[in-house]
Amino acid sequence: MGAPASVAKVPLLDLSRQWKGLEEEVLAEVRRVFAEQDFILGQRVEALEKEVAAYCAAPHGVACASGTDAILLTLKALGAGPGDEVVTTPFTFFATAGAIWNCGARPVFADIEPGSFNIDPAAAEAAMGPKTKAILPVHLFGRCAAMGPLLEAAARRRIPLVEDMAQAIGAEWRGRRAGSMGDAGTLSFYPSKNLGGSGDGGMVVTSRKDLEETLRRARNHGMSRQYLHEFVGTNSRLDGLQAAVLRAKLRRLDAWSGARAANARRYDERLAGLQGVRTPEPSTEGRHVYNQYTIRCERRDALKEHLGKNGIGTAIYYPVPLHLQPCFASLGLKEGAFPESERAAREVLSLPVFPELTGEEQETVVARIREFYAGR
Ligand SMILES: *Cc1c(COP(=O)(O)O)cnc(C)c1O
Repeated sequence: MGAPASVAKVPLLDLSRQWKGLEEEVLAEVRRVFAEQDFILGQRVEALEKEVAAYCAAPHGVACASGTDAILLTLKALGAGPGDEVVTTPFTFFATAGAIWNCGARPVFADIEPGSFNIDPAAAEAAMGPKTKAILPVHLFGRCAAMGPLLEAAARRRIPLVEDMAQAIGAEWRGRRAGSMGDAGTLSFYPSKNLGGSGDGGMVVTSRKDLEETLRRARNHGMSRQYLHEFVGTNSRLDGLQAAVLRAKLRRLDAWSGARAANARRYDERLAGLQGVRTPEPSTEGRHVYNQYTIRCERRDALKEHLGKNGIGTAIYYPVPLHLQPCFASLGLKEGAFPESERAAREVLSLPVFPELTGEEQETVVARIREFYAGR
């Protein structure tokens, strides 16, 4: 079946649709930032920190330059460094393990649960040892990891737990918000995240006053008051323009997350029972915010190609688990070390699920997937 003459494109993500409803409000605020020349940190960043922390049900928020820095600065603030290990999942965006590496510690991977794509608490527990400095679960695709046993294991060993919640702002586990359960939660405002800026940005939310204070200094060269440096930090500050954008978007985030969940339900229904496809397991433990709607499928690469030819955007998050990345070869982990992560990397495909996606577009996606498997 050749590509039809005119292909209605369904993008994986189309941020321009969201912008239409934001343009006036955001640009008016951007003008005020310029009028005030309030570019680095400043009142809007402070307000954003309070608003995001409150949204995450955490007492403090410290903005920084990226989600990667949010993880790195938090691990450093917790004292992680050479000789330490940090337990995490190999099935995540690279930054999770990259930040562990860059603080000087060693990433120790634990395999995932096939249903949630998140770190398997039993495997995490087995990966912990005397050198474990922290545990860093990821709430992948917008669904919280199995926090009960993870928090319990961390508490038993008296080690901190950091939630990589870059994809999961507003997600919940048994009524508790992502970012409010561990010692800290790290956020990314990369444009494609559920709360995305117009550039890079990040934040750490935390219940720990000591962490908050250290992070506030760490992101600004370890400075406690002007030109007094108690330790060597870095420049990882958020700017006022990003805060202006993010504050406008935060007011709409619940509506957007609701629309994502509704789109996910529609796929669940339309794809149910289709041979060759497994829809994501719905969370029984609380709100999933669907940064990605990720199916498992047979002949994944061929399906992706078929959808691409028909104008449908999809993505593979993630094709190579982190233990098999060339940069981590020195960890000595080979194919077969984490079979569930490796299997997920072969089977996953993320479909368009962004809030402004129309029902008609979704029907197109579903029809094209059905067509692919009908022709098997
Ligand atoms: C996006 C992301 C990050 C990194 O965030 P940046 O803002 O791009 O540095 C870290 N972890 C996960 C799981 C992510 O999805």
